[in-house]
Amino acid sequence: MIVDEVLILKEVIYKENDKILHALSRENGKIQLLSKGSKKSNSHLINVSQLFAYSRCSLAKSKDMFIITHAELIDNFYGLKNNMEAFFYGSYILELIGYVAGENEVDSRVFDMTVSVIKYLSETDKDYNKLVAAYELKLISMLGYKPTLNICISCGNEIQANAKFSIQEGGLFCSDCVNYGSGINVTYSEILTMERILKTKFEYINSIDVTANILSLIRNFLFYYIGKDNFTTLKLL
Ligand SMILES: [Zn+2]
Repeated sequence: MIVDEVLILKEVIYKENDKILHALSRENGKIQLLSKGSKKSNSHLINVSQLFAYSRCSLAKSKDMFIITHAELIDNFYGLKNNMEAFFYGSYILELIGYVAGENEVDSRVFDMTVSVIKYLSETDKDYNKLVAAYELKLISMLGYKPTLNICISCGNEIQANAKFSIQEGGLFCSDCVNYGSGINVTYSEILTMERILKTKFEYINSIDVTANILSLIRNFLFYYIGKDNFTTLKLL
């Protein structure tokens, strides 16, 4: 028996009254949970067995799955249910982390950050794309692909002006070195924005001005390093 915190990423109907839940757990990465009887209206597992549910569970290992023996809901991020736009952005976060955690070992920092971004999505009525971009940049950095933003990746000089960002090289070419590599033009202010996003908690992201250029650069950077760009939930946005 183990106790772990889980965030439900996906529900699959199983037999008449049960559900199989795909979940991100804090200590055990991506796992599948069997939630027995959770489709019955009087089930004590009904609230913890829904999309976005964040709970603390006692789990018994059974073959390649865990059976929920006891669960306590921490948050169901109720705000997402009344706001379609926030719900769609949240759904993208779940699909993204489900894929990433399936391919990589993810640690408890990634879990905590994911719960945190879902919480702020559920509490705010604006800036969803900024919150999601911040999540994407923090996530890819935690996975070990943090872009180099302070120095030129060719000559090593400190970046203090507009530059070119190379996704493939994972960093910036200064104005003296732009001829050595291709990339996306970024202003010095946009470079500082990316630095600030990495250092700023989700609750303060709304104070940062993020250009459309940076939003798309972050997403392309993430997709390049995780090797996937066709997320179903993105088509809803
Ligand atoms: Zn240089």
